[in-house]
Amino acid sequence: MVHLESHPLSQRLSRTRREFLRDAAGLTLGSTLFSAPLFSGARFPSPGRKVVVVTFGGGARDQETFAPEGQENIPHLMKELIPRASFFTQVVNRGILGHYVATASLATGVYETFNNFAATPPESPTVFEYFRKDLKRPASDAWVVAPSNGFNRIGESSHRQYGPGLGARVILPKHLLTAATAGKKDYEHLLRDNYETPLYAPELSGNPFEMQQLAEILKLSVEEFKAHALTLSSPDELSVYIARQLMRQVGPSLLWITLHDIDIAHAGAYSLYVDGIRRTDRLCLEIWKTIESEPEYAGRTTMFILPDFGRDGDEDAGGNGFQHHRTGDVLSRTTWMMALGTGVRQGVVYDRAAQSTDLVPTIGALMGFSTGLCQGRPIQEVL
Ligand SMILES: [Zn+2]
Repeated sequence: MVHLESHPLSQRLSRTRREFLRDAAGLTLGSTLFSAPLFSGARFPSPGRKVVVVTFGGGARDQETFAPEGQENIPHLMKELIPRASFFTQVVNRGILGHYVATASLATGVYETFNNFAATPPESPTVFEYFRKDLKRPASDAWVVAPSNGFNRIGESSHRQYGPGLGARVILPKHLLTAATAGKKDYEHLLRDNYETPLYAPELSGNPFEMQQLAEILKLSVEEFKAHALTLSSPDELSVYIARQLMRQVGPSLLWITLHDIDIAHAGAYSLYVDGIRRTDRLCLEIWKTIESEPEYAGRTTMFILPDFGRDGDEDAGGNGFQHHRTGDVLSRTTWMMALGTGVRQGVVYDRAAQSTDLVPTIGALMGFSTGLCQGRPIQEVL
């Protein structure tokens, strides 16, 4: 288990973040549980418990989100979600700051070290495999909705004791759309992918499997899907549309939605980056509202929202501020997480250090399965 002391700058950032939230939303500071034993015995996972994880796609800085000047970009988080959540101001990512490898690390609870730009499976078992193997759940009970860039392999690791046949089913909305529209120009704005390295452009290939997902799993006709897609403005809106359809038609107990619009920041246009944040803010609320309104999810679901990592600061000479995440500085590694829903304390802020790898064991403790090979440990405050 890797548990280093957190960096002083990380602690300072976390305290500032806490002040912003306290001032704006009037939140309480929770007691810190530094000395909480690993197994407190306080966990009673309920059999019908569901978990939805949303990654706050691409990461944003506090200046454009939690700081006073940024709060106008995240009105739904500030006014509707954070007051209902337990909020962790210091979630440190000690791994590689590439989106696929970092998101895979969130999903395995281990800092994965594979090449971010290769379509390779995680090496350690994913939360989906732990869940399905331990609780003997069918493939239909764990799903990932993801951008296409490498993420098609995120549902299942190459680990010998887990892997093939035990992972999550992965749905790639852009592939569905490509399959349904045969790459028509009207839909180009929904198919943008991989903002970081234009040279690496994975093929968006729709195939018969995708068409089958559309018809049999999502219960969407091609015509209906195409017509609705024309009303959407971004890839993340497409992902959330598909995720909602999945929640209604399949109702998986473990659902992972990877948002990615904010990462358009790499293009260098500040206004597009801020638009991405505002849209992500709205989509997080939409997902929460779906949880509250769908009988399969209402009253039994815990939702986690967290970024994979942040972005560079303006001060670092080696970085480009909001545009990239190249320096690996403390700022871009000190992220946050909120948990809300069943059993979670509302309106509380915790500023003790947690790690990105703590998510998987926390989900395991909530749902009642073991996550033996991961590096993190359960976040006691939400159990
Ligand atoms: Zn990026």
